[in-house]
Amino acid sequence: MSPKLREEALERRARRLQEVLPEAEALMHACAACGHACGADRKAGARGRCHVESADPRSVRYASATLHFGEEPVLVGRGGSGTVFLSRCNLCCVFCQNHQISQEGLGRDVQAEDLADVFLDMQAQGAENVNLVTPTHYFYPILLALNMACSRGLALPIVYNTNGYDSLTLLTLLDGIVDIYLPDLKYMDEGNALRYSAAPGYSTVAKAALQEMYRQVGSVELEHGAARKGLLIRHLVLPDDISGSYEALLWLKDAGLTEATIGLMSQYSPQYRAREYPELLRRLHPKEYRDFVEYAEKLGFEHVLTQSLASTEHYLPDFRRRDPFRSYA
Ligand code: SF4
Repeated sequence: MSPKLREEALERRARRLQEVLPEAEALMHACAACGHACGADRKAGARGRCHVESADPRSVRYASATLHFGEEPVLVGRGGSGTVFLSRCNLCCVFCQNHQISQEGLGRDVQAEDLADVFLDMQAQGAENVNLVTPTHYFYPILLALNMACSRGLALPIVYNTNGYDSLTLLTLLDGIVDIYLPDLKYMDEGNALRYSAAPGYSTVAKAALQEMYRQVGSVELEHGAARKGLLIRHLVLPDDISGSYEALLWLKDAGLTEATIGLMSQYSPQYRAREYPELLRRLHPKEYRDFVEYAEKLGFEHVLTQSLASTEHYLPDFRRRDPFRSYA
């Protein structure tokens, strides 16, 4: 992209942020940011299903902000992904590898102003992007922080790294602000989504979300090996096809998403409360994963990212450390 076009794009993003902030504030009064649509008045300090503790709507809790080299290569580029791990989550996945922050709430509370400083610090360190991990329930302080950081020169692509349980109401607000959507497609079976993640209607919500994300940003576009925009869908393959992996691929094809980049993740290992579910107690068999990857190729997906089964342990973070993914540094 030429410098002039980039400048124009940044000006459009700045204008869009100004435009959506009042709508984002209104959404906080009866929150419907995610599939729960629980209606909590978060502006008045009420707590929703996502268990955000702070009654201050401008505050955000994060556990780590680091240059992360363990994300997909198109996100890492040369400088690393400027990853901000936000605490709490609107899902309760019984096998969550980030449970220290998502379920136990590890992290520190800061104001939107401080989060803006974090974004600018990532840029100063040479990050390829600002990668917001599990951002849905903090949409309001994040938009405030982006508005402040952009007015102070933030020019990095914004990555919205989500579990996919995002409402269309929220995604409409993010149109023109998010450059790269990085959603999960966790389940195709609504019963499994309820049983393992306490997410009613997950499949319906996520399918609509992915289509809207693709409409907004399209396929991944690279610049010097790093993504500037686009949709990258992650699918974590669970044992015994609990995640509905084959059905997910068929749906993606039917929905016209074969040009999107698909990350087929083999890294599942039984974490957190998985021991309470005998069917979740094992890792993937190599053949189970291989067969699935071959099926994706057979269906004509061209932008497929795969993982080595041997690498499972490398993906397990420890958020009590200063750098939770130390082995990548
Ligand atoms: S983000 Fe939280 S408060 Fe908002 S609808 Fe979802 S669970 Fe409720």
